[in-house]
Amino acid sequence: MVKVELKDVTKFYGKIRGVENINLSISDGEYLAVLGATGAGKTTTMYLLAGLLSPSSGTIYFDHEDITKKPAEDRDVGFVFEEYNLFPRMLVEDNVLFGPIVKDLDITDSKQIARELFVLLNIAGKEKNFPDEISGGQKQRVALARAIVSNAKLLVMDDPLRALDAKIREILQIELRKLVKDLGITCIHATHDTQEAMRVADRIAVFEDGKIVQIGSPEEVYNHPNSFYVADFLGESTSMEGRISKKKKESFFIANNGLEFKVKTDLKDGEEAIALVPAELLDIFDVEERETLNYDNIVEGKILNSKCVGEFNEIEVMVNGIIFKAKDLIGKEVPARKGSKILVATDKDDYRIFPKEKEIKK
Ligand code: ATP
Repeated sequence: MVKVELKDVTKFYGKIRGVENINLSISDGEYLAVLGATGAGKTTTMYLLAGLLSPSSGTIYFDHEDITKKPAEDRDVGFVFEEYNLFPRMLVEDNVLFGPIVKDLDITDSKQIARELFVLLNIAGKEKNFPDEISGGQKQRVALARAIVSNAKLLVMDDPLRALDAKIREILQIELRKLVKDLGITCIHATHDTQEAMRVADRIAVFEDGKIVQIGSPEEVYNHPNSFYVADFLGESTSMEGRISKKKKESFFIANNGLEFKVKTDLKDGEEAIALVPAELLDIFDVEERETLNYDNIVEGKILNSKCVGEFNEIEVMVNGIIFKAKDLIGKEVPARKGSKILVATDKDDYRIFPKEKEIKK
């Protein structure tokens, strides 16, 4: 419902940098996730958009209008925080209608919108409860209804699902995206959780130390991370240092311990590099299956650890001094015993190859 642009936006807290030179354009109706580690600048960006903070320099536009100095209450921004921030002594419905009343909106219309939101958000029937009488997931749904009910054109959410348990979080991620898309609201959702960003967003902006380091669709960011930092941040992975070797148009990564893998890269012969392979792309097999496998790379190792985490086994395999981390679907028939011999299989596309940086942040 609104196009949002940040132009060279910088925010310093005294001498501490919150964000620096943020340039970002969010289309009307787009769902953007802002992904980053703690201290990356997510909250600062959300507060700047909502008008709860002013930038030290730079300009913020809503539909080409400079709103940098516009007060929060005049921006039509709905804000959802990590904490629900509901008024504990007000009924759920009064919490939701508080904004429209303060803004002097037509109360009959607002009640009708609230009723529709209660149904959409699956909290119909909770209107007469106090916040303490409903679950964390339901409280966050109420907070969402409250953010949207006053005709918000932009929904800004700062790690809204962080306090919820994994199952509710997953359900709400799917519902949130559906709700935002059904209503056509422009939405910016900050999170430290890669899976969450991938599930909800049309595009992801990855923040590092107050700057945007990559922006693209979930597929682009996942399949083509533009730096070791981004690739490493996206999830569990194995990384190793080595160099590139080119033989007959094929590229190989020779790890410092001598292991050799066929890879895909534009780096040149002899160039020092870091190879990273996401855990979910490593396949593991019983050694007896070797003859039946068709992979670019197969190496043998020993299981160091195997742990069941929900639908996956997280398996660590030691190969020539390198610990490969794999995520394997439970139920697959591979030996999961510590010390068992096992095959680690990968294809050349599974590797993300980066020129060696001076410092590996791991
Ligand atoms: P988290 O996930 O932990 O909330 P974040 O990505 O939201 O982190 P910000 O809270 O925006 O990051 O912080 C960005 C930087 O600004 C950090 O270095 C932080 O210490 C600093 N910072 C944030 N708020 C203040 C403040 N009120 N005073 C001083 N420094 C601050």
